[in-house]
Amino acid sequence: MSEQWIYLDGQYVTKENAKVSVFDHGFLYGDGIFEGIRIYDGNIFKCAEHLGRLYDSAKSIGLVIPLAQDEIREAMAETIRRNDMRNGYIRLVVSRGVGNLGLDPRRCANPTILIIVEQLAIYPEEAYINGLRAVSVSQRRNLPDALNPKIKSLNYLNNILVKMQSNFADADEAIMMNAQGYVTEGSGDNIFIVKNNVIYTPPCYLGALEGITRLAIIELCETLGYKLKEEPFTMHDVYIADEVFFTGTAAEVIAAREIDGRVIGSGQAGPITLKLLEEFRKIVSLDGYKVWEA
Ligand code: PMP
Repeated sequence: MSEQWIYLDGQYVTKENAKVSVFDHGFLYGDGIFEGIRIYDGNIFKCAEHLGRLYDSAKSIGLVIPLAQDEIREAMAETIRRNDMRNGYIRLVVSRGVGNLGLDPRRCANPTILIIVEQLAIYPEEAYINGLRAVSVSQRRNLPDALNPKIKSLNYLNNILVKMQSNFADADEAIMMNAQGYVTEGSGDNIFIVKNNVIYTPPCYLGALEGITRLAIIELCETLGYKLKEEPFTMHDVYIADEVFFTGTAAEVIAAREIDGRVIGSGQAGPITLKLLEEFRKIVSLDGYKVWEA
């Protein structure tokens, strides 16, 4: 990529000129929301679903996005075109905007909107076959009645502290439980387990983001005729599972081979995980909004 162009409040600016105020409440308080989106072969995967979640997150925190969904979609498409991008990652951020040092969001007149597109540093291809090492962490997922994890907010300190715990354990991913000890999700991915050919994923009310990839996998399970249940489970169920995998925009569908020192299944990505990954990769360039014809 020669010059990197960034959308910032209606302008397209270079990386060097993409600056936001120190009084922006996104910076001061993590007051804002975001989306991480993929573009595959010129297709913004699940574009409408990501925009839907962005506007839902905004509504939930009482932030009025001053653009319509199709205007944001067009700004994403134009940022992609200006960066001549066919495959990559889109970061769409809407913060409360510039205010004063007080918390009161009423002081913030205009939300800040920015779009960054970049190449993606994802797991190496061998990790999709061999799986990840994961650990459960003591840090609990944010309580839904304190900061609901369904809001994809800019306040990611809960996830960062969890990621630090998995780093200390030299693991690739963390598993977060809620205050009752039920498994919720990874540090930045949803989680699924497979036992006796039934696939389980925690219901999001336990405290998990309603992942777009999670939903795509639930739909694929239906298409493929796999039995899927959204029901609570504990780390015990994870340890004895035949397969465990994470889903997310960046990670796609990736197995865990070892969790808290227990080998999962065969110690490699299992057949259901690999089948779901294969089918998922078939739809990513088809389902969404086409910026370029492939
Ligand atoms: N959970 C968390 C906490 C996340 O940040 C993400 C996104 N990185 C996910 C789950 C997966 O969501 P999606 O499939 O929409 O990327």
